[in-house]
Amino acid sequence: MNGAVTPPRARHIVLLGPPGAGKGTQAGTLAKELGYAHLSTGDLLRSEVAAGTPLGRAADGYMRAGQLVPDELVLEILRGRLRRPDAEAGFLLDGFPRTLAQAAEIERWTPIELVISFEIERTQLIARLAGRRICPRCGAVYHLDAHPPREPGRCDRDGTELVQRPDDRPEAIEVRLRVYAEATEPLLGFYRDRGVLRGLDASGSPAEVAVRFRRLVEPGGTP
Ligand code: ADP
Ligand code: AMP
Repeated sequence: MNGAVTPPRARHIVLLGPPGAGKGTQAGTLAKELGYAHLSTGDLLRSEVAAGTPLGRAADGYMRAGQLVPDELVLEILRGRLRRPDAEAGFLLDGFPRTLAQAAEIERWTPIELVISFEIERTQLIARLAGRRICPRCGAVYHLDAHPPREPGRCDRDGTELVQRPDDRPEAIEVRLRVYAEATEPLLGFYRDRGVLRGLDASGSPAEVAVRFRRLVEPGGTP
């Protein structure tokens, strides 16, 4: 025994990175493995839009245009979701925070112990976004080349016809990448200053990224 103490695994983890970097893909798998909740504010908002709630109606136009939904609406939806018991064991936050105001607010609710920054080139991002297709019923995510469904155009889980997200069209992609650079990139400095930021090389296949991702999340894991 060398007396070294392994730190506990982080329970409150933020995935930071541009749209299309693969955050949702990785979070979905790892959350199941760890027994954590996968909390995607994009998914939560899309459910509200699909259900036609007042919050969904207020968010829809911003989302279609690739703009951020106002902080108050996103905070309201996330606050409700965090109260559900499945978030108690731990959570992977995907797509939140996206502004400094959101980061400051979640710090008041709960400590964030680890922030993983997905790093990838712009050309790869655009290819990932342009080829993404989703199931409008269950939210499953596919890619035309990297992760095609078994039957072209149909969800593996429920057979529903896959669709392209309105914000994955070229005009909205441009806006989203610009919004990311302006509003969300400053969070890298915010979390670096707190000593919780780790970089993840998000290039390569989903399986390759998953190996690197798990390593970062393991107690004492290093980049
Ligand atoms: P984000 O949640 O960061 O917006 P997604 O996880 O939805 O990104 O991934 C964006 C698209 O890229 C999806 O179509 C997904 O299937 C695909 N994808 C995810 N990870 C990879 C990868 N490592 N290589 C190639 N395509 C990927
Ligand atoms: P995503 O699924 O993470 O790509 O998010 C899709 C869209 O939902 C974004 O382009 C925003 O319009 C909105 N959205 C998701 N999360 C947030 C957030 N934390 N703050 C503001 N808008 C958000």
